[in-house]
Amino acid sequence: ATPLALMVGTGRGAQVGVLIKGPETLESTRKVDTVVLDKTGTVTTGQMTLVDVVVGEGETKEQTLRLAGALEGASEHPIARAIARGAGEMVGDLPAVESFENVEGMGVQGIVDGHAVVAGRESLLADWAQYLGPELKEAKLAAERAGKTAVAVGWDGVARAVLVVADAIKPTSKDAIRQLRELGLRPILLTGDNETVARSVAAEVGIDADGGNGSVIAEVLPKDKVEVVRRLQEEGRVVAMVGDGVNDAAALAQADLGLAMGTGTDVAIEASDLTLVRGDLRAAADAIRLSRRTLSTIK
Ligand code: ADP
Ligand code: MG
Repeated sequence: ATPLALMVGTGRGAQVGVLIKGPETLESTRKVDTVVLDKTGTVTTGQMTLVDVVVGEGETKEQTLRLAGALEGASEHPIARAIARGAGEMVGDLPAVESFENVEGMGVQGIVDGHAVVAGRESLLADWAQYLGPELKEAKLAAERAGKTAVAVGWDGVARAVLVVADAIKPTSKDAIRQLRELGLRPILLTGDNETVARSVAAEVGIDADGGNGSVIAEVLPKDKVEVVRRLQEEGRVVAMVGDGVNDAAALAQADLGLAMGTGTDVAIEASDLTLVRGDLRAAADAIRLSRRTLSTIK
């Protein structure tokens, strides 16, 4: 291949909002047949807000928000930040956190105001023998069917509330996925979030979630995302991975082509071959189209 033509391709990339690490990247871009998309921050904006507080019998929203809000205030996770912000707006000053532990891909736990508090996935509470009662369970399922994330909250050994956090799908995601399909790529949604939430988001952006054909891979722990990419590669697929988070970095590096959202973390950007400068997924389709055009010019 002529280095000059590849350089021209790299320059055009900048015009369509794609930063390309090196000219040789165009070759792997051209061969990709599968595109794995992280959900939060990639297909969705990742800007979460606390939209509902559902409490069990005998509990108050205020106490739930004080304890869960304070605990989540010690975490950097987008879900945690939404809860801490929402709680602060609704109840004002939050108590101090006496101890705190982040459980990767699961939630948070610690001591607040003398109470042992847990917030996160239902299974994290189950580790402490805390189970949502029928009403809270129904509230959780209703939120998830609507594509929202339900955070279970418990303290002193009892599951007591569900906090509902919503994230908006980027307005460009659906069109981007249609374009990727037109280029012959198979889209797969990959997330640590719950299966029901993932399927709801997938359906909304046109990723085929039925037929059990693996278009939606949910409840994957951060450390296991890389394994999903490796497995697809073992099946003979040439895999592009698009992500934004620290928890996507290993998968981005493992993929045949890693694409980072320019709006994402530095770690994700460093692990990737391409950066979608504006965080617009349509630029991924532009990059693939561009690489095919550039390389057919050379050959
Ligand atoms: P994603 O792959 O969507 O970026 P993560 O792997 O970071 O998500 O988290 C997976 C799931 O773990 C979240 O959807 C949420 O249910 C739960 N979780 C993680 N961190 C927290 C937290 N700080 N508070 C509540 N829930 C959390
Ligand atoms: Mg993400």
